[in-house]
Amino acid sequence: MEIGVDRSLCEANAVCLGFAPDIFDLDDDEELVVRPGPVPGDQAERVSGAVRGCPKNALFIVS
Ligand code: SF4
Repeated sequence: MEIGVDRSLCEANAVCLGFAPDIFDLDDDEELVVRPGPVPGDQAERVSGAVRGCPKNALFIVS
């Protein structure tokens, strides 16, 4: 699983960090940072929760 973010929709409200803090972060400019590369298997459920939980529908599964 790889995760993508539509930056035109993301408002950096950090909801996804609450689901998967090892995958999502905010940088010093309060821009969302997504850990690059495939999502580790033990994080897949958390990331799926973040995709469903994003209030802006900004997250999507790439593959
Ligand atoms: S929950 Fe959605 S809108 Fe909020 S920071 Fe994450 S991707 Fe952006």
